[in-house]
Amino acid sequence: MNRIILTADETLMTEYGGASFLGFILCAPRRVLPNFLVKYIICPRPRMKNGEVLAPPYSLRKVEASLVHSGYNKSDIKFIHPSKLNEAVSEETKIIGVDAVDPMGRGPVSWTLRHLLGGGKTATQLAFLSLMKKIKLLKEKYNFKVILGGPGAWQVTDKEAELLGIDVRYYGPAEVTLPEIIDKLIKGESVPAVVKAAPPKPDQVYPILGPARCGFVQITEGCGRGCQFCGPTQVPWRSVPLDIIVKEAKLSIAAGEKNLYLLSEDWLRYGAKGFRELNLNALTKLLQTLRNIPGVDKIVSTHVNFSTMKLAGEKPIEELNYYMGVNEKEPWIGPQIGLETGSPRLLEKYMRGKVLPYTPQEWHEVVVEACQILKDVYWYPCITMITGLPDETDDDIMLTLELLDDLKGTPAWFFPLFFIPIGISALSGEEFFKTYLMNDARWELVTRSWKLSAEFALKYIKHVTAGAKVSLTQVFLNKLFSRLSDETLRFIDKIGGQPAQMLTMLKNVDLTTPSKPLMKALISIIAR
Ligand code: SF4
Repeated sequence: MNRIILTADETLMTEYGGASFLGFILCAPRRVLPNFLVKYIICPRPRMKNGEVLAPPYSLRKVEASLVHSGYNKSDIKFIHPSKLNEAVSEETKIIGVDAVDPMGRGPVSWTLRHLLGGGKTATQLAFLSLMKKIKLLKEKYNFKVILGGPGAWQVTDKEAELLGIDVRYYGPAEVTLPEIIDKLIKGESVPAVVKAAPPKPDQVYPILGPARCGFVQITEGCGRGCQFCGPTQVPWRSVPLDIIVKEAKLSIAAGEKNLYLLSEDWLRYGAKGFRELNLNALTKLLQTLRNIPGVDKIVSTHVNFSTMKLAGEKPIEELNYYMGVNEKEPWIGPQIGLETGSPRLLEKYMRGKVLPYTPQEWHEVVVEACQILKDVYWYPCITMITGLPDETDDDIMLTLELLDDLKGTPAWFFPLFFIPIGISALSGEEFFKTYLMNDARWELVTRSWKLSAEFALKYIKHVTAGAKVSLTQVFLNKLFSRLSDETLRFIDKIGGQPAQMLTMLKNVDLTTPSKPLMKALISIIAR
């Protein structure tokens, strides 16, 4: 029976053809992304059996685990790809749960890209709206309830939720509150339009019951550093017990994954309690155990933190590399790491916890040292900064630029992101940063960072696409991104001194439909 259907839009219900890092591209305005690139290369359909997605997003697997733990039958819960919803939904369907990461293009990356690339709906947003349109039509026929959850659920306003037919927006982890809400909805009882979840107790960790896409396995929850602009900080920090991690990892490997992606906001703190000391024993044991699972090729994580890198030092990380399968020839591309700002004043005001156990005044030095370690251990990160925080001045930005100067030669992407008031953060009442607030200092930060990123991409793109399961895709992506990086460097030189004209130049670009210039450009990329 399909009583509870769990789904997500096409930009989430995909395995990204094996190159999951490319998912970020979908945060760009949809009009600058050719259809074939989105449909067949970045988000091809995932593996499915009888219409069910075999390896859905990790968060949907967590929902399944929480529901089964609270008494629902596993067979009543189905993971359905948007393209199969019409066949899967029936009179029996009581609930459709939708996972959302960037449903309205209001996440930091998409907000920044859509504004810097001349505006328009992002690929993530259009995919979400298309999914909701389909669900709304089905709802009119079958009268089920719709719950929107996931880290991006806050992006949907009251009015938008009503228009899209969403009954409940659910913020936070599934374990405690979600089963109660679903019980009530199925019984026809009333439920608030917005539900804030209670955090799970230490013993409420329910392992997922099947493989998650891309070999994702959660190793820690929350963060605990308390940055005021951030969402994950709302969930208390804890490390997931090793036996649960291993159980989940085995499910993915048995389903054909070779690489494990350890989900964490600061994975080097696995097993640690505070910010002053790491638990290298726990970390090493974690990696040793995962490495011993037959079939594991590479083990990487999602996020690191500069303070934790400096605290760990180079030697222990080199030892971890052995278990991770990382070395000079196979570097780890893409751990995300927040530099945020070079301004001790802003660090003190909005993110004092980020720098612990160091002080805001030591941050510049911490970042420079950590970047040297990252380079030496072949971890090539995506470094994000934040601009447009309330009360940010040109002096603050100049301090970030000075820090960037000292990071020249660091193999990394550098991305300044516009400030957005994440709905579940302490700064949720503030205004979104917009392009009319760009000034010379902020443009300098953007163009300098993009230049560094393009230079990095030119050199290391083959490692970024290394996970692609189809080798032809990899060859194509390598050529495409090399060309894009070349063009970015040329473009930045061209607009030098007047970067604002970039917005006008890019406003009318539309690559969604095949046109002669587009085809010509593609042929030239392939023939290169
Ligand atoms: S360190 Fe990162 S994850 Fe933690 S609260 Fe700050 S921004 Fe959020």
